[in-house]
Amino acid sequence: MSEAIPTRVGLLGWPVGHSRSPAMHNAAFQALGLNWEYLLLPVAPEYVADAVRGLRAFGFAGANVTVPHKQAVMAGLDEVTVEARAIGAVNTIVNREGWLVGHNTDALGFLRALREAGVEPRGCRAVVLGAGGAARAVVYALLAARAQVTIANRTVGTARRLGNEFGALFGARVLVLPLTMDLARVLVAADLLVNTTSVGMARPGDPRPGADPLPAGLALRAGIAVNDLVYAPLETALLCRARAAGAQTVDGLGMLVHQGAAAFELWTGQKAPVETMRAAAGGGSET
Ligand code: NAP
Repeated sequence: MSEAIPTRVGLLGWPVGHSRSPAMHNAAFQALGLNWEYLLLPVAPEYVADAVRGLRAFGFAGANVTVPHKQAVMAGLDEVTVEARAIGAVNTIVNREGWLVGHNTDALGFLRALREAGVEPRGCRAVVLGAGGAARAVVYALLAARAQVTIANRTVGTARRLGNEFGALFGARVLVLPLTMDLARVLVAADLLVNTTSVGMARPGDPRPGADPLPAGLALRAGIAVNDLVYAPLETALLCRARAAGAQTVDGLGMLVHQGAAAFELWTGQKAPVETMRAAAGGGSET
């Protein structure tokens, strides 16, 4: 007698081989005794629409979506949540009997990780480094939680567009700065610094291994919490610098785990085994 076919979910991206999500989700399915499996689904950009239709055709319960497809998948979905639409990215698809709904769990994952570390975003003065895809989820989450937000980015125009867009959405004033020593005057009064740039992320042949996104002479005060979204490596140059300054540090694993846990809960309707997922994700081999 053959075993029942597992319920399948997967990761749409290009490339996807580096991902920690299969280990994290498969460990969670196993811990809850679910006959589910999480597959890598590498899809070249020209086939994204076919791949989304394929989720229906193959009866997948859903999928995660990563770079570079987080925007492109939207066109093929039946529904996109207000939050994912505002952030401009879908990282989780749920298949409800052929009706595909796009969600963004990055914003929720970021907030859960922050609160888990004892940092309350409501009313805090936050400085976000970067204005790319991850920054959109983080700035959205912080403004939704009623933090005061400053965005600093290498390309100031991108930060300005993001600040204007989300400032208007939340009726908030978002300060925008270049990623220079100008930051000193806001950091001195900030409660939270979040690095959403890819600086510090290890890449094969990296020309600046162990780089830090902050200007060299800029001092961090002891009372600030520093959250680096980079999770490969977990111990980044920015977090080392923050710790040396006496600041609280929060690494990128918490957001990775909590965005996954939120997706798991959307797919299965069950509470995610967060600690199992953290152990499986932390043991990944990405460099
Ligand atoms: P992205 O859309 O490509 O944005 C990259 C950002 O980094 C931009 O603001 C870019 O500035 C800035 N940047 C790149 N190189 C720089 C440099 N040399 N100096 C200064 N700024 C630089 O990437 P993303 O999707 O937002 O991802 C960013 C990072 O967040 C990645 O390391 C990713 O792994 C991490 N992340 C982690 C999680 C998690 O769960 N922990 C979730 C999402 C993302 P410009 O605008 O000037 O180009």
